[in-house]
Amino acid sequence: MRCPFCGTQDTKVVDSRLVSEGSQVRRRRACSHCQERFTTFEVAELQMPKLIKSDGSRELFNEEKLRSGILKAIEKRPVSIEAVETAITRIMEKMQATGERELPSRWTGEAVMEELQRLDQVAYVRFASVYRSFKDISEFRDAIDHLESNKEDDQSSPVLKEENKS
Ligand SMILES: [Zn+2]
Repeated sequence: MRCPFCGTQDTKVVDSRLVSEGSQVRRRRACSHCQERFTTFEVAELQMPKLIKSDGSRELFNEEKLRSGILKAIEKRPVSIEAVETAITRIMEKMQATGERELPSRWTGEAVMEELQRLDQVAYVRFASVYRSFKDISEFRDAIDHLESNKEDDQSSPVLKEENKS
């Protein structure tokens, strides 16, 4: 690493220790040219792809935004926070696993729907109806049909009846 005082490339680590409960490494470095010492911090970077919005602009992935979208969909539904966190972790891992530096923002929307479909059918329909902003009732009907065809083994009551109870 380049010395910030004289600019020489030749610096060496003289001390190295874990800080911030082990999430950072603090290194003391010494310049072999001017003898100055300086400190660097090393932090693991989770490389999340950037999101390409429908207008073509890019935005940074925002975990909070993802979380609040999911929490809104599961409001008053019997879904534990732990299950939500697991879903968020899984979505982020999937995003990283693509190896892409940029992904269309609808990619995360689809990933959220996939997770919600597993967690809670009502939450899934809520999210899907906002996210896909169904243009007419037939599109909504299609989503419900899709749901029902996916739960042949599931004996629970139909989604819409369930929603009316709350
Ligand atoms: Zn130096």
